Amino acid sequence: MAAKFHMRTPDCFFCHKPGWLDVPLEAYYAFRGGQPVQVAFSNMSTDEREQILSGTHVGECSKKWDELFLDMTEYWEDDEYEETDGSI
Ligand SMILES: [Zn+2]
Repeated sequence: MAAKFHMRTPDCFFCHKPGWLDVPLEAYYAFRGGQPVQVAFSNMSTDEREQILSGTHVGECSKKWDELFLDMTEYWEDDEYEETDGSI
């Protein structure tokens, strides 16, 4: 049974509140010792690593990233298929 550390993550980009994650103590020490987040927390999900790096909360706030990305994709597609008659 590995010891856990209740780690504070940066203020969230979306809701501006700090977050907390339970991480393995060894991983926390590795991260503080300079290991990249994807190495130190290799057993954790992408969303959890995202929260450690940017503070974006796993769940509601990380979904907003997806929505934001989808919105932008739609925008680009609309732009691409926009028809012009060639006149200015
Ligand atoms: Zn949040």
